[in-house]
Amino acid sequence: TEEPNMVKVKAIRVHELGGPEVLKWEEVEVGEPKEGEIRVRNKAIGVNFIDIYFRKGVYTKDLPFTPGMEAVGVVMAVGPGLTGIEVGDVVAYAGNPMGSYSEEQILPANAAVPVPSTIDHKVAASILLKGMTAYVLLRRCFKVEAGHTILVHAAAGGVGSLLCQWAKALGATVIGTVSTEEKAAQAAQDGCHHVIVHTKEDFVSKVNEITSGKGVNVVYDSVGKDTFQGSLSCLMSRGFMVSFGQSSGTPDPIPLSYLLPKSLFLTRPSLMHYTATRDELLAAAGEVFANVASGVLRVRVNHIYPLSDAARAHIDLESRKTSGSIVLVPDI
Ligand code: NDP
Repeated sequence: TEEPNMVKVKAIRVHELGGPEVLKWEEVEVGEPKEGEIRVRNKAIGVNFIDIYFRKGVYTKDLPFTPGMEAVGVVMAVGPGLTGIEVGDVVAYAGNPMGSYSEEQILPANAAVPVPSTIDHKVAASILLKGMTAYVLLRRCFKVEAGHTILVHAAAGGVGSLLCQWAKALGATVIGTVSTEEKAAQAAQDGCHHVIVHTKEDFVSKVNEITSGKGVNVVYDSVGKDTFQGSLSCLMSRGFMVSFGQSSGTPDPIPLSYLLPKSLFLTRPSLMHYTATRDELLAAAGEVFANVASGVLRVRVNHIYPLSDAARAHIDLESRKTSGSIVLVPDI
């Protein structure tokens, strides 16, 4: 029997793990918000590589599920007794809980951050998760300072584009890797001082040449399997390896002794652990929105698809056709 207070909406559902074809467009019921919760009508939904990991089972979640870690929407209802947030507010969330590939969703109010009225919905949905990731990588995992030289893989990608812009503003020399000349032009526009097209040149020898054999202070490696070992080779003595993704597959394990010849540091961060408290979340989101407002971050909303066509977004992201950010827009 149907509960009287159920709202019917359309969402992308995953019933079995697999390729983009497992993303099904279906009707789902969304309940009313309980204590501490809000119901949000999504206006723009950010697509992230992590959505692919969950769809394929690289990261696991009980089936069936609605994918999506990020959205911007309008509050439609608030749970009993909730203060500080009202119907009509525009909010964004990035991270937990999953389920943003939906016209509407229930969220814990403490996962929602206010979106400044000067920032467009699609821009905010393009930047919150990726921008907070860039903030964590550049300001908290390793603190990039003026005079540092850094290496960024997938420099024209969603996170990569923001890393390059932000690191340049911090005064670093930025070396980026990309797969095509078109992406190279974009990375250069985003502040990459040296762009390596890794399909044409070996990135390890090129970094060696650019740094006159010295190596870089830090590598931000989201590609994983294909780049991990080479990235370690690019580091200077006491350099910092930040492995934050695996777009090409999980890197092979390495023995600890690999770090010894240069006394290297290695970390494998997750955004969630750096935005675990409400204060940390608001600080990270605040940094991102402030850098958009001041023009440090120019957001590339390069691809917009209807929510019902999420599969096409996944196909394009997985086949390396995209650059910058991807946004899904519900029809309502
Ligand atoms: P991107 O827009 O960066 O897309 C992935 C890019 O990776 C591609 O465009 C491609 O760039 C490059 N790539 C290299 N090898 C492959 C491959 N085999 N298949 C597909 N792409 C490949 O995605 P996002 O900005 O959404 O995410 C970037 C990375 O950051 C992901 O690995 C993601 O998991 C990670 N991430 C980690 C977080 C964390 O908390 N640790 C938080 C957010 C993101 P090119 O063609 O130029 O080589």
